[in-house]
Amino acid sequence: MTHRSRTKSSAGAAPGAPLVAKTTMGASTLPDDAALLAAQLSRWFAGAARDLPWRHDRTPYRVWLSEVMLQQTRVAVVVDYFARFTARFPDVGALAAASEDDVLGLWSGLGYYSRGRNLHKAARVVVDEHGGRFPSTRDGLRALPGVGDYTSAAIASLAFGESAAVVDGNVHRVLMRLCADDTAIDTPAGQRATTARATALVTATSSPATVNEGLMELGALVCAPRAPSCGACPWRRSCRAHDAGAPEDYPVKARRPARRALRVAAVVLVDEAGHLWLERRASRGLFGGLWEPPGTVVPDDAGDAAATAATTEATTEAWRGLLVARGLTAPSTWPPAVVVQRTLTHRDLRFDVVVVPLPADAARALRPLDSGELDGRWLARGALGAVGTSTAVRAVLEAALGPPGSPRLL
Ligand code: SF4
Repeated sequence: MTHRSRTKSSAGAAPGAPLVAKTTMGASTLPDDAALLAAQLSRWFAGAARDLPWRHDRTPYRVWLSEVMLQQTRVAVVVDYFARFTARFPDVGALAAASEDDVLGLWSGLGYYSRGRNLHKAARVVVDEHGGRFPSTRDGLRALPGVGDYTSAAIASLAFGESAAVVDGNVHRVLMRLCADDTAIDTPAGQRATTARATALVTATSSPATVNEGLMELGALVCAPRAPSCGACPWRRSCRAHDAGAPEDYPVKARRPARRALRVAAVVLVDEAGHLWLERRASRGLFGGLWEPPGTVVPDDAGDAAATAATTEATTEAWRGLLVARGLTAPSTWPPAVVVQRTLTHRDLRFDVVVVPLPADAARALRPLDSGELDGRWLARGALGAVGTSTAVRAVLEAALGPPGSPRLL
């Protein structure tokens, strides 16, 4: 018998099955009294919590900044970014007064750049419409750009003490295991189940912030995705998945659609002084508002363009189109492409990159495409940190030109 089949039969908690709910909150919710579970978790958190910079001074601004940064990003990475951000923008007024380029420049490398743009927009709303003070309720917070259910609950609970359940991936994992629930967490039913259980816990305590943080911390430190340390868990006596000897069977996820494969043709234009021509993308969509060399998606005529090894005719046509659209003449033969592969959440990207040196007169005449939001400029390689660039673009430039500071390969 596999773990999976054993757990599925027991997760239903049929009467007489090995995993019988011990008491409390109604069928199929928590396996023990909510107040007891909340107290056990709070005690554990008091002794085990990591000393993280955003826990020192729980202002709404710092809670908001840290929670936005922590989405999809590891704590160890966020610690450095948080320190740099708060040093440069110590409060919401300073962030609102900055330019978007300054904010995205500091955000570069954190990924999911719409977060950085929304952070900046929301700071301006807080200053312009709320006199520099964050709204103190979930509903008021949710009206800010980029602040959804998760972030509004986190700020309301951690900064203002509201009994709002904060549900992230760690919380899903811990509570689905605690209850041995095989409802898929990426479905509305799974979301409702976890939110109901987390709400039961935070409303059963006088310190909802501690319970919310404790849940997330338990998922990060003890109830890990692989090989959870059940022996160190304050809930091991109540936990149904532990009881069944199969914690890793939870949480269950619904099947995800395959990532889309995209091939991108890019030209790195370099002038005689070694400066690079970068253009800013329109503010919406993937990598919106960030700076990059001219590039375009290559039409997929092979069914799976990114998986095709060779540079295709469609790619050289795309390079030619990029140059001609900017008033430049395409070379009669192309150098071999530098290929860079990147995997994003929903896409497999393959960049086919060529470096094109431009003589001084062509470089002087170059203009960005005439399409509204697009902007373009020549930048020294060492000045790239002053504008927002994605990790993918930095990888493309490094592959095409060598690491920053190395002799130019032209
Ligand atoms: S006992 Fe194990 S599986 Fe259950 S919540 Fe604790 S760490 Fe997770």
